[in-house]
Parts: sequence; C-alpha cells; structure tokens
Amino acid sequence: MIKYKQCASCGMELRLQSFYIDRNSKDGRTSRCVECVLDHQWEYYHRPEVIERQREYQRQYAIRNRKKRDKYMREYNRRPEVLAKRKKYMREYRKAKREELENGA
Ligand SMILES: [Zn+2]
Repeated sequence: MIKYKQCASCGMELRLQSFYIDRNSKDGRTSRCVECVLDHQWEYYHRPEVIERQREYQRQYAIRNRKKRDKYMREYNRRPEVLAKRKKYMREYRKAKREELENGA
C-alpha cells in the first residue's frame, strides 16, 4: 500500500517517501515535502540576517580559537627549552649587533 500525503507548502500529493521523517508529527513525516524543505533551507541560509549571524558566529569562533592559541603560546613560551633557546638567540643577536656597531664605527 502506498501512502500519499499533501505537502503543506507546494500542495502536491506525494508519496510518504517524499517527506523527511519527523518523529514529532502524527504520521511520522514532515509537513513539507523534501523539495520544499530544501527550498526553504536554501532561502533560509541566504537570508541577510542568517548570513550575518553565520558571519558573527565565525568571528566568535575565530576569537575563541585565538584565545586558545594564545594560551598555548603562553604555555609554550614558558617551557625551559624554549626559554633557553630564546636566551641563546638574544645573546647572539646582541653580540652580532655589537659587532656590527663596532665594525661600523
Ligand atoms: Zn512541497
């Protein structure tokens, strides 16, 4: 037996398979057919306020990620081997600068 259902959006009589499963509804299917749901989603995701919200979400995500990265970098910079390496580098840098100045004078 093939069951049909009318789409609440386009009004077409379609097979139940043309509707998404929705456990909250009486017949276990969405009131809109798959095509209409996809249409609706496409429209939804292209609405300016939705695009704006997504942009904002991505911005927040980037900020959160930056904080995470900063935390990681702070911990990284506190490692003894990193501190030693930096000290050595600074010493060599200063030495090179001094020599440069002495040679330049
Ligand atoms: Zn439809």
